[in-house]
This record gives sequence, C-alpha cells and structure tokens, in this order.
Amino acid sequence: SKKAVLGPLVGAVDQGTSSTRFLVFNSKTAELLSHHQVEIKQEFPREGWVEQDPKEILHSVYECIEKTCEKLGQLNIDISNIKAIGVSNQRETTVVWDKLTGEPLYNAVVWLDLRTQSTVESLSKRIPGNNNFVKSKTGLPLSTYFSAVKLRWLLDNVKKVQKAVEEKRALFGTIDSWLIWSLTGGVNGGVHCTDVTNASRTMLFNIHSLEWDKQLCEFFGIPMEILPNVRSSSEIYGLMKAGALEGVPISGCLGDQSAALVGQMCFQNGQAKNTYGTGCFLLCNTGHKCVFSDHGLLTTVAYKLGRDKPVYYALEGSVAIAGAVIRWLRDNLGIIKTSEEIEKLAKEVGTSYGCYFVPAFSGLYAPYWEPSARGIICGLTQFTNKCHIAFAALEAVCFQTREILDAMNRDCGIPLSHLQVDGGMTSNKILMQLQADILYIPVVKPSMPETTALGAAMAAGAAEGVGVWSLEPEDLSAVTMERFEPQINAEESEIRYSTWKKAVMKSMGWVT
Ligand code: ADP
Repeated sequence: SKKAVLGPLVGAVDQGTSSTRFLVFNSKTAELLSHHQVEIKQEFPREGWVEQDPKEILHSVYECIEKTCEKLGQLNIDISNIKAIGVSNQRETTVVWDKLTGEPLYNAVVWLDLRTQSTVESLSKRIPGNNNFVKSKTGLPLSTYFSAVKLRWLLDNVKKVQKAVEEKRALFGTIDSWLIWSLTGGVNGGVHCTDVTNASRTMLFNIHSLEWDKQLCEFFGIPMEILPNVRSSSEIYGLMKAGALEGVPISGCLGDQSAALVGQMCFQNGQAKNTYGTGCFLLCNTGHKCVFSDHGLLTTVAYKLGRDKPVYYALEGSVAIAGAVIRWLRDNLGIIKTSEEIEKLAKEVGTSYGCYFVPAFSGLYAPYWEPSARGIICGLTQFTNKCHIAFAALEAVCFQTREILDAMNRDCGIPLSHLQVDGGMTSNKILMQLQADILYIPVVKPSMPETTALGAAMAAGAAEGVGVWSLEPEDLSAVTMERFEPQINAEESEIRYSTWKKAVMKSMGWVT
C-alpha cells in the first residue's frame, strides 16, 4: 500500500504511575497522529508501601511503541518519518539495577511509598547547621516523597543492592534513567543519564549549580558513582537500540510535570498549569529565578531546553492523591468498574450532601506536608450513599487544588486569572465544572489533553542535531480550548471550602 508523505514526526513515551503511553505527533502542527496505552500494575506489599516492577514498565514501553507503529502503518503513515523520541516519566520513583546483568535489584519504590517515614525522622534529627540545609540546596522539604530517602532505604535494607554497590555494579536512576539506559542498549552500552528536571526531584541535586551535591550525598550516605549523568532536557542522549524505532535518537527528557508545563506552553514567568493524574500537580513558571515558598510549595527545575539554554524554575504544589482516589473506589471498594463511571454516580446526586472525603492515603503533601494524616470520610448520615461518596471524592480533588492555588497566589503576589489544566482526570466534565466553582476562576483545558507527551515531544524535536520542532509559541496558536466558568456564587463556594478545611484538620495525627 502507498504510504502518505508527511513532515517529520516525533514520538513521546509518557510513563506515568497508572499507565504507560507512546504517542506520535506531527512536528509541524503538533497534531496527535496515533498512540497506544497500557495500564501498569501497582503493588502494595504492606500498608503504606507502593512498588512497581521496572521490567514490566520497560516492557510496557516497548509494547506501546510497537502497537503505535502498527497503528501508524494502518493509517498509511511511514514510521521512518519519526525523527526523535522524547521521554516523560513519573518522577521520584526509584530504581537500582545491575549494570552487568541489566536486572533491577529490587522493585521500583514509587513516589507515593511511605516506608521511609522513620528514615526521614532519623535524618531530620541529623540535619547539619540550620534546618534549611536541604531546602536551600534542593528546594524540597525532607519527606518520604523524594528519591534520596528511598535510595537510602534500599541501601540499608536490600542485601542485593548493598552487594552490587560494593562490587561497583549498581546503577541508580529515576524511571527516565532506567528507561533511557535500557532503550539505548542496556548492558550493551546503555547511556546512564537523567535530565535536570528529574534530578531536581532526587533531593541529591543542587538546583542552583545544577550538579549533584557532594554534601547532600554525604548527608544521605549515597555513593556518587551510582548516580546518572545530568543532562539538559533537550539534547541527543543516545539512539534506540531495538524494536520498530531502532536507530531513532532519544533527545528529550522531562519529568512529567515539567513536560506538561512545556506542553501547555507555559514559557512565561507567572504562567501555570495543573495536571490531574494519580496525584495533582500545579506548577508555576518563575523564570530564571528560584523562588522559595513560605506556604508549603516546592521549588523545582522547570526545564532547560538545550545544553546552552538557560534554566527555568517553577514553584510547585504537589497533591499526592487525586486520580488515585478514583482508582481506590474502583479497586478497593468496587463501587465503580471503570474510572469513567465516577462521573455518572456523581451526576446522579450533584452534591456530596455534606459528606467530605480527605484522601490522605500517603499523608498530606502540599501545603501541609503532614505524614501523620490518613484518609477520612466524614459527615455521613443514614441518607449518604455511594453517589455522595463519589461526588465527595471528586470535590476533594478540587479542594486540594484550591489549597495549592491559594498558597501559589500568596507566594507569587499576582493571583492567577484562570487555571490551565490537563491530565487523565480532566476528561471528567463534572470535575472540571466543580473545579471552576471551587476556585471561582475559569478552568481552561486544551482540546488535545496529552500535554505531558506533547512537552516531551517538543523537547525531543527541538534538540540540537534533530531540529524538527520550533518552540516559537505562534506555531501552536491554533490550539483550541474548552472553558469552564464558575457557576455557583463565591459565598457558597467559600462555605464548602471552609468545611473541607475542618475535615482536613480531622485527618491529621492518625499515625504517630
Ligand atoms: P498518571 O499520569 O499519574 O499515570 P493519568 O493522567 O493517566 O495519570 O490519569 C489517570 C488517573 O486518572 C487514574 O488515577 C484514574 O483513576 C483517573 N481517571 C481517569 N479517568 C477519569 C475520569 N473520567 N474521572 C475521574 N478520574 C479519572
């Protein structure tokens, strides 16, 4: 069959907490041509523990690439038009593997995992100098969330990891590093690297000098030789070593939240986006300046799109549980069979009827950073049914975003006039309307919701030596948006919000 002639195409791996996707875009129009998605398993071996299988993650990437290429073939699109691949990934999730065998030495310890709570407590007693030691270098509070403490746990508790470190066979990486090393050849010359955005989530990276920090590595007791090389977010790291896209350069790498910021074209100081996936992450571009929050937000590297390009920073509000609460209602309570069904339940009642659901499954992240919190459902009456609980779960995601937005407005001084959104949950129209009602500003969603993948594709296509994607904003001015305007009055919105805060207070201090 005759294959249609097209401009250069760019692929993107979007390796998230709940699924892996591969997507192919037209570099001239940013149009999404084809994609494939595979849900991945999460293991909960003990209360508070969350693990994933690094091999399953890698296989899911290969499967998505192969399936997407097949679909392109069916569309008569020649896959040799794919000129570059970008990688975007769930951040902080920690893998240690053996560079001689290519085998992971333990499951991936997922960002949500809480096993390091006691590690964090004992470390926080030993912080040298003032309490700002870690935060001033990394922009992050000492928490179970970040890779350094997960890696510390692996070094303390897993014999295979200890032995491999002693024998100089161990490599550490976040999911981007694990994937790029494997995809570029693994034991046969795989490239061990990460980008500045992913590095900035390890808690070992100095966000000012953009290098691994010797003092931090000493503090956490991490041998520096197991760390990947830190590169910019847009440059050729290596070539695909196998599969349908063998020989194609991997030339973009961004943590998923940074990728979404790029995909939403938030290139200007003060531009922000909120992504609703497993968790929920609001990032605001602060330009070349590191802004430190007084209200529980993180300072993080937004992106650096080329070796010689300047670095951009962001303020970030991280919510641990957003879409995960829907998955929990599906998998643990079984009140829905698919995530989409939540909308139908919520619509049936249109209110939580005074029921509030604080999904603090992994403690509370921003703005509280309260590891002692646990989930609660409160305000129940004889009248409450599963529809009200479904509604309360959606409302919880919106309230948590409101808390972040309030903190962001206080730190930045200029309130956001609207909220740009993306992520798997944004297909839920009730959620989007509720969000506008609770924030009392319009919520704006691009009609092509795969902004995380788009950001990674943009970085890959714009890399030196690839050069098929121009990052000039006018290129994408045709992006169409869906808007949700606030419909309830501000007073009603405030009452609901203050009751939510009361519920949050009740969720704290459950574990000591
Ligand atoms: P991640 O990038 O963290 O893997 P995604 O952006 O793929 O997450 O979003 C998946 C999450 O969104 C899942 O937790 C799922 O439960 C939730 N989700 C998907 N569709 C809906 C929906 N229609 N309503 C509410 N939640 C949804």
